[in-house]
Amino acid sequence: MMKVGITGGIGSGKSTVCALFAARGIAVYDSDAAAKRLMQGPLRPGIEARFGPECFRGGVLDRKYLAARVFADREALEALNALVHPAVREDFEAWAAAEDGPYVILESAILFESGFDAAVDRTLAVLAPASVRVERTCRRDGADPGQVRLRMAAQLGDDELAARADVTMVNLFEEDLAPAVERLDRKFRCDAKNY
Ligand code: ATP
Repeated sequence: MMKVGITGGIGSGKSTVCALFAARGIAVYDSDAAAKRLMQGPLRPGIEARFGPECFRGGVLDRKYLAARVFADREALEALNALVHPAVREDFEAWAAAEDGPYVILESAILFESGFDAAVDRTLAVLAPASVRVERTCRRDGADPGQVRLRMAAQLGDDELAARADVTMVNLFEEDLAPAVERLDRKFRCDAKNY
């Protein structure tokens, strides 16, 4: 089964793009949602052992608390990633093996940073100008532009994403999205046949 990894910075529109692939019958694995599910489930004992039982309040993962613990503490972040990333990858592999479409998609905001790119056969980066991404994210989340720019600064920039991805698409105008996804879907279906 051919696997395509889709990534992009905050507000680039990767979830929107993935939803368009899903509408064309392609199964999409949401790695962020999977990480949340796994952290709440099988990874809980490991997280409690490393970061303390206070990571779970009333049995529910306190993502804000955990994010604060690993923020600006490189070692703690690496320890958390060492727990979560292999588990997500294994879960993704098992999920992909059970799918029977022409190809599957892995959506990840940190495709390259996490090493998930090694788990896929093609990579697609969704790009958009920084100002547009800030505006979209603020509109979507009611977020503060300064906070959004801080999060953007911690992610790979579009230049680096473009250099590392096999394919890129610029998500600027809404009306261009569906035709772009249609072309890419055609290309990936073709690649999958020869895979
Ligand atoms: P995040 O990393 O924060 O999850 P994302 O890359 O998944 O972001 P989306 O949630 O898909 O981005 O898009 C961000 C917002 O911008 C959403 O509200 C979406 O509806 C909107 N959006 C996406 N693409 C376009 C577009 N081409 N034109 C207008 N709005 C768009």
